[in-house]
Amino acid sequence: MDPAIKSRGVAGGAKMIELPNFIIVILGCLLSLAWGSFMGAAFFRIPLRFSTENTFVLSLWKGRSECPCCHHVLSVFDLVPIFSWIFLKGKCRYCHTKIGSSYFLIEFFALFVFLVSFYVLSLGYIAIFVSLITTTLLIMSLIDLKYYILPDELQLLLLILFVALCLTSDTPIDLLLNGFWGLLLGAGLLLLVRIVYLYWRGIEGIGLGDIKLVGIAGLYIGMQGIPFMLLIGSLSTLCIAIPYMLIQKKKDMKLMFPFGPGLALGFLVTFVLQYAKVLPL
Ligand SMILES: [Zn+2]
Repeated sequence: MDPAIKSRGVAGGAKMIELPNFIIVILGCLLSLAWGSFMGAAFFRIPLRFSTENTFVLSLWKGRSECPCCHHVLSVFDLVPIFSWIFLKGKCRYCHTKIGSSYFLIEFFALFVFLVSFYVLSLGYIAIFVSLITTTLLIMSLIDLKYYILPDELQLLLLILFVALCLTSDTPIDLLLNGFWGLLLGAGLLLLVRIVYLYWRGIEGIGLGDIKLVGIAGLYIGMQGIPFMLLIGSLSTLCIAIPYMLIQKKKDMKLMFPFGPGLALGFLVTFVLQYAKVLPL
């Protein structure tokens, strides 16, 4: 393994702690798989809240995992990321109902993002954060595309990950201060756009979830990162929304199109480029 990897991946402004590579790899793989598994549950449980006919609502935080078909509570062996799905051939151990591959795919996705961030982008232990943040943003985007909601539970998880990022930094106070201004600028700008939209056109151009997401992203990327994030977010949203509107033949431009996935992409690209020292942090 390249010994230079260890010293790289340190952001310009913030000094990060150093860990031996093998510890980062073991920790990164385990955390990514566990987080992927948790996000698989989030992907299944959170949307249940939005369907009105569903009186039985699963909380993301409480309740054991169970088979959605036979409701058998799953044992530890049924919940080993990736391996359980492969060994049980994608079926429930108890009722043999086929289990969707989404759990497996989300776990695999988290692991893949970690390995690419660590080995290709040389982000050091920041690769673990990239994996966990990316997986959370993926689930948020999928839910936003379908339900036009960026769930608070997932926003809270991003906030908790930011606290963890500060705790593992050598300069937590700098990171916090930097983040504070980023939060103010990001959330402030989007709030302004929302107010202007409401007054001029009488519609909610920007959802409250979008404002929260940009605020939380501001914590990670600081004031400097916000313009770049919003640029990427707006461009990527337009690139998809305009062809979509043309296909749907909605020329009144009043079509609702979620901003969350674009913002998530902007956040992620900015965060990675900052820690790869392409953009200033
Ligand atoms: Zn079952």
